Amino acid sequence: MLSTTRGLTFDDVILIPGYNGIRSRQDVSTDVIVGDRTFHIPIVSSNMDTITEIEMANAVTNLGGMSIMHRFMTIEANVAMFKKLQNPSKVGISIGIGDESMPRAEALVAAGAQIICVDVAHGHSKEVNRTVRMLREKWSNNILIIAGNVATYAGADYLAAAGADVIKVGIGSGSVCSTRIKTGFGVPQLTALQECHKVDRCIIADGGIRTPGDAVKALAAGADFIMLGGMLAGTDETPGETFTQKNHLNQDVKFKRFRGMASKEAQVDFMGGMAEWKTAEGVAVEVPCKGPVKNVILDVMGGIRSGLTYCGADTIKALQRKAQFMEITSAGFAEGTPHAIGRINVRQN
Ligand code: 5GP
Repeated sequence: MLSTTRGLTFDDVILIPGYNGIRSRQDVSTDVIVGDRTFHIPIVSSNMDTITEIEMANAVTNLGGMSIMHRFMTIEANVAMFKKLQNPSKVGISIGIGDESMPRAEALVAAGAQIICVDVAHGHSKEVNRTVRMLREKWSNNILIIAGNVATYAGADYLAAAGADVIKVGIGSGSVCSTRIKTGFGVPQLTALQECHKVDRCIIADGGIRTPGDAVKALAAGADFIMLGGMLAGTDETPGETFTQKNHLNQDVKFKRFRGMASKEAQVDFMGGMAEWKTAEGVAVEVPCKGPVKNVILDVMGGIRSGLTYCGADTIKALQRKAQFMEITSAGFAEGTPHAIGRINVRQN
């Protein structure tokens, strides 16, 4: 029989403040421990070609987070890039499920890579399972295996059983993603995280985080890390040229390109074109330049530290234990966004 279930995302909920015994938001820990590795901030830069290459990886890992380099380059270029990193043990490399995936993994592990991310759009698949098992067999427990993307308990459990240490969660939630429009599939991200969190593995919340508040909600829903694409787009450390365009006031504004890896533009660049049997599941956009990535990350981290104290939680794990979500209405959502200017205008009229 047909049935439907309810899925929620960040804007559908709010976190309910709880008793706080922590003196200062400086007294909370944002450490994330994965196996024998500790990251001081729960932020991962996305493995997209307009987000993470050397400069982004160095900046994010210097701030205590993790980075995952994209794989849309030759194996040789990938190895050369990896060798230039300042903190290789905190930077992951990406592979897919095609024929060149194992040779890429082998070349990069030989160059010192310790974190491998098996990354495809629909990770609840036989091929991803097979790839994860091959990596696990080959390197035992010497490497950290991240696998995804999934959005259900069944998907996360399947990859955990294959040997993944970390599960990447998010189908159709990304800022330049059109999977839900093109296919009708996906799971609203908050529900996806709550479901995948039931599997005993580290979780990366990937896609759809637009504000520090979304980051706190993702962590509270069970994510150990948040992966950022759009929030980091346009920062100085992203790959790509800066160009100037006029805005609607005829002022010169600097922009950078940001694109989904399944956009037509990215497919043309990396595959030489879009096959006729495929449709693009991502878009390409121009984003205004934002300055150093450090400013974005400090803003997100400030929100996370403050969020921990609103919950009375001194660690992310405590946040996950104590957090209580309340489902809100559209009026509740509107109330929670800055609205002073609108009010003044109403009074003046
Ligand atoms: P954001 O932080 O921009 O909301 O989401 C970033 C995530 O979107 C990436 O880490 C990746 O999982 C996902 N993504 C990137 N490109 C595409 C695409 O072209 N299509 C889809 N469906 N997802 C994408």
